[in-house]
Amino acid sequence: MKHNPPASPSHVSRREFITATSAALLAAGATTAKSAGASKLAINGGDKAVKVTVKRARRWGDLERERLNAMLEQNSLFYWKGPQTALALERFKKIYPFKYAHTCASGTAAIHIAVAATGVGPGDEVITSPITDIGTVIGVIYQQGVPVFADLGASTYNLDPADVERRITPKTKAIIAVHLCGNPCDMDALKAIADKHKLVLIEDACQAWGAKYRGQPIGAVGHIACWSLQDSKHITTGDGGMVASNDERFGPMLQKFGDKGGDRVKGGGFQSFATNYRMNELSAAFLAAQLERLEGIASKRAELGNLLTEKITGIPGIRPHQVHPEDRCVYWFYFMRFNTEAFRCNRAELVKALQAEGVSCSGGYINVPLHREPVFQNHGFFAGHWPVREMGLTKMDFTKHHTPEVEAILQNGIRFIIHEGMTEEYILGAAEAVRKAAKHYAV
Ligand SMILES: *Cc1c(COP(=O)(O)O)cnc(C)c1O
Repeated sequence: MKHNPPASPSHVSRREFITATSAALLAAGATTAKSAGASKLAINGGDKAVKVTVKRARRWGDLERERLNAMLEQNSLFYWKGPQTALALERFKKIYPFKYAHTCASGTAAIHIAVAATGVGPGDEVITSPITDIGTVIGVIYQQGVPVFADLGASTYNLDPADVERRITPKTKAIIAVHLCGNPCDMDALKAIADKHKLVLIEDACQAWGAKYRGQPIGAVGHIACWSLQDSKHITTGDGGMVASNDERFGPMLQKFGDKGGDRVKGGGFQSFATNYRMNELSAAFLAAQLERLEGIASKRAELGNLLTEKITGIPGIRPHQVHPEDRCVYWFYFMRFNTEAFRCNRAELVKALQAEGVSCSGGYINVPLHREPVFQNHGFFAGHWPVREMGLTKMDFTKHHTPEVEAILQNGIRFIIHEGMTEEYILGAAEAVRKAAKHYAV
């Protein structure tokens, strides 16, 4: 089965295709503008800006079937020395050149393993982003550490290095850099801060399969990197995760902290305490196949998201998703902000208008920053208690935690779905929808 077919006919180059498509759209605009259908919003009875319907391509097929069939010939489905796990790790390391990599049950598990390997203990602080999946901090709290939420870049939605540095205290042990939407964080700045303050830098690359930082596969700058294989991620095993490191201090610990605390290489009984986060051979077989699809998926998403940026840049009141020109963002979703003061409508109205144009979008991402979720506000992580606070090991009060840019991002951000089944024609239509709506609602 051939997957990720190019959107443009193979005999036409990408540039020619875009030019031709743009020309066709311009021509269509020129004729329909006379009939007033093109500038009138679809929500008010005008023509839709998006003329195509996009279908999510099937995400698996013969590659996975072949691996699952091979797996069925085995008499054990256990990961250790399992051939499917070995193949998945081999293929992973071909893309991500890590010395140590360990398959596990989820992205949450991967990060918990990383945090445990780092040696985060009672009262130790870990600085991270408050706009992320809660899985980023579950492991921190289970290790009795204290998540400290920093503010984010206004259009990158990633850790603001200056704010990270401001929040460092003598108790800070690690930074977890979340590559939100698959957009690489400013890793050079974060690594410099980590080195200066002797902190461990963990990369949460759960949304960043296939992303690149300054041309290198994501995960290479920090000490430990983590991925999720949950169903919504670019490649998946339904649920699953990967944790990897090149650091001799942490790499050898990954297997141990993912597998009940025992070291399967060295033996020696249970010298450390951990939970069971193992991935079995069924998932590993699937993963080995999914990794073959990664580059096609990642490059397509990057191309589509970058095209959207190109086409909405310069529209008054609109802030495109900011990506460093040397990086590859894989747009787990595309996050655009709009200047509420420049518009006569609120976000819900703008989203409704864009949806009526045929755009797949919605307001915001998570409802509130993580620290404003009830479990944080109540400091009630363990049966209503938070032992480290009750023991005086931290004074953290999440009701007083403040990240102003984060609040603003969640209030005026609009999330566009990007996926590898979309076409350039769809993106051009979506950009046209933004342009139409921005013009219509301009104050
Ligand atoms: C999905 C995700 C996680 C958690 O991964 P699971 O596999 O769902 O446990 C953590 N961090 C980020 C940024 C994610 O998107």
